Amino acid sequence: MKHKVLITRCNEYDSARIAAIVREGMKELGAQPYGKTMLKPNCVLAHPEVFPHAFTRAEFLDGVIAATKEAGANIKELSVGERCGITIPTRFAFKQAGYTSVIKKHGIKAHYFDETKQVPVKLTKKESLRDLIFVPKPVAECDFLINLPKFKAHPWTRLTLSLKNFIGIQDDRHRLVDHNSFLEHKIADLQEVIQPGFIAIDAIIAGQKMMLTPTPFPVGAIVMGTNSCAVDTVCCHMVNVDPKDLIHLKMASERGFGPMSLDEIEVAGDFPLEEVQRKTKDFEFCLERVDDYFKNTKALKCMVGTFPERHSTDYCWGGCPGALQEAMHINIGAYPDVDDRMKKVRYVVGKVEGPLELQDGERVMFAGDCCQWEGVIDGKKVTIKGDYKTTADVDPKKAGSNDMILKILGSVTHCLSNGSSRYIHAKGCPVSVGQHVNYLSSLGKIPNANFDPRMLVPVNIAYWQMRLSRFYNRLFG
Ligand code: SF4
Repeated sequence: MKHKVLITRCNEYDSARIAAIVREGMKELGAQPYGKTMLKPNCVLAHPEVFPHAFTRAEFLDGVIAATKEAGANIKELSVGERCGITIPTRFAFKQAGYTSVIKKHGIKAHYFDETKQVPVKLTKKESLRDLIFVPKPVAECDFLINLPKFKAHPWTRLTLSLKNFIGIQDDRHRLVDHNSFLEHKIADLQEVIQPGFIAIDAIIAGQKMMLTPTPFPVGAIVMGTNSCAVDTVCCHMVNVDPKDLIHLKMASERGFGPMSLDEIEVAGDFPLEEVQRKTKDFEFCLERVDDYFKNTKALKCMVGTFPERHSTDYCWGGCPGALQEAMHINIGAYPDVDDRMKKVRYVVGKVEGPLELQDGERVMFAGDCCQWEGVIDGKKVTIKGDYKTTADVDPKKAGSNDMILKILGSVTHCLSNGSSRYIHAKGCPVSVGQHVNYLSSLGKIPNANFDPRMLVPVNIAYWQMRLSRFYNRLFG
């Protein structure tokens, strides 16, 4: 039996139309939600003004919930679960995305994964990076998972679709473990936790280039299926990407999670693949190294060295460099003239050899635990020692909290205490997007986008609600 994937036309965020399409899709694919059914959207970051295109739209979620209620049999609990990105409280992202009112309207449950208990799940595949992975209890107990990714390009993994959407099932403590050159392995590992019973991808308006600040591209489609590898394979072809170039897809397929060849997939629906490919011929990606990507900016110059893991010595696609790109785009979103305002910053990542040849006033950010450099700055010898830990040295059971306030305060304090120094070494593997925003703000003397007044108060209110709820769940959850 071939896996079936449907590409269906849908040009508008009309909940009733989406519900009708998804209802038909579930019927055609034989997907019948039951028991504890959870919808997992991509709500990595949401704000109507600052991050309008990063997330699965609320109208989409609304339509799928309505279809699920009709198509389901013996549903014991219907919920929406997610952990948004960059340590911001999920309840803030849900509110900004418009999910809170949709969830309330349907009288269903929200599982904010940063507030729920995390439980270990054993991994048994011989190719797995780890033998244990932590996930939220509601995910471990879910009977039927409905995966609702947003169709987006991704600067670290080329595309984010069904497989990659599982990064959002981990809380902050565990999400950043292996979020480095092992990111693709980690995505493949997560597939063993649970397989979705149904997938519907929001490709009505897709996102190009960045994952947090994508530029919109109206594809006008909903993609549906029941196998993540099959769905992602078809989505690759939709934007003229060879599925073999999606590393996590290749890994997941090699581990037996599904096909990655169109010969093994039946593509159906009312939107022919060739027509979609013609429509998306100018779809833009951003899989560029930071030294190339920022080469024409006035203020930022990047030096990329070598990296510790044998499978990826020339670049770290899942860690610090990508976080720098996202951080710069957040800065540009908040302050469009940031390249004119920012003082010169040299970004050094990996093991770099040779002199930096700094310009007057230029300051240096050495990024990440694997960063190594030795040389002279302002006549003084400087040694940046690497402190990189291999996968075997990092125990997910002892992972740090990655708490939003602690991370922000940590990097702000680090910057303040090094205020007059020409250089700073930002530690972490990875150094997160939020930390990059702080370091760039301090070194480049630009306003800190983490303190954007549109976000500051509501994020902090949500943060303390999250802390209270998490405390309650630890005691009684
Ligand atoms: S420190 Fe950063 S660049 Fe180095 S391996 Fe870790 S995530 Fe990658």
